[in-house]
Amino acid sequence: MASTSGAGKTDAERPVGCVHGSRCRGAVATPIDLRSLLVLPLAVALALLPSACKAPQSEASANGSQPATAPSLQVGRSAASEAATPLVLTTFTVLADMAREVAGPHLRVASITRLGAEIHGYQVTPGDIERGQGASLILDNGLGLERWARRFNANLPGVPRVTLSAGIEPLPITADSGRGKPNPHAWMSPANALIYVENIRAAMTALMPQRAPQFAANARNYSNRIRALDLELRQAISAIPPERRLLVSCEGAFSYLASDYGLDEAYLWPVNAERQVTPQRMARLIRTVKDRAVPAIFCESTVSSEAQKQVAAESGSRFGGVFYVDSLSGPRGPAASYLDLLRHNVDTLVRGLEGQPR
Ligand SMILES: [Zn+2]
Repeated sequence: MASTSGAGKTDAERPVGCVHGSRCRGAVATPIDLRSLLVLPLAVALALLPSACKAPQSEASANGSQPATAPSLQVGRSAASEAATPLVLTTFTVLADMAREVAGPHLRVASITRLGAEIHGYQVTPGDIERGQGASLILDNGLGLERWARRFNANLPGVPRVTLSAGIEPLPITADSGRGKPNPHAWMSPANALIYVENIRAAMTALMPQRAPQFAANARNYSNRIRALDLELRQAISAIPPERRLLVSCEGAFSYLASDYGLDEAYLWPVNAERQVTPQRMARLIRTVKDRAVPAIFCESTVSSEAQKQVAAESGSRFGGVFYVDSLSGPRGPAASYLDLLRHNVDTLVRGLEGQPR
């Protein structure tokens, strides 16, 4: 990772969303700025909620099955110390990975939805609610992502909840029925991920103030790795000829990444919650792919790619592979962590767009 970049700022100071002509998000400020904005409200909110310190119950007994991503920190621990470790639940696996990076061994972290799950229109189970009642903190994405959150939260009145997208500048959905609503996939921008990490740090610090130095050190280390990857991905994308920089996916989940890296985007449907493939949507996408002579188009791991393969066949493009957005892959897959997910997506995109149209 380079020690300095543009305008005489160090990497630690540089807002990563402001390179290559993309818009600067005011909220992507230095960690110090973010802390002054976010820590106090979260700390106050969490301190006021009575269950912030309540003892968690074990996930196995709460849910009757394994959590979506097994908390590796449990390995080698006694049952007693595990029971004394507060449980943090996230709404999906990507957030669980981020939270685990900040928590280290001091908190148990698990995801409510499982690997590969469709997370927008997820159906909450009684087991999820029971598990939620044993949690000391719930971390969600917000921006309308978790359409099931109202029912879930209504059953957990005493469990503190923190929305990790707080402080980001939302981008609107620009097509079809969702037009004007915020696009929920803010974590797909590394710049926004820094805000998520800071929100996680503040929430965990409010929950367990005695671990503040550890959470701060973990968050700092993780944020530096995100910044380093951001630079790497920018370089990779800058190698794509400008006229080919069109990211074609099934869901319109890449608006934040596209905005950061100067990509155009096109998709079959705006959000998975209404993933209807209509003849009009297919015809529109086929036209765009033909017009831009895009060599490869893609789809995401949590939905069927059949329609997109048909678009490829009819547009003279090629199906270039699977992106990970709403879920990590399994531990042996290409997106076992959030950082792996970003790297895999950009690698897949760059490889696909380097090819020639059929
Ligand atoms: Zn999605």
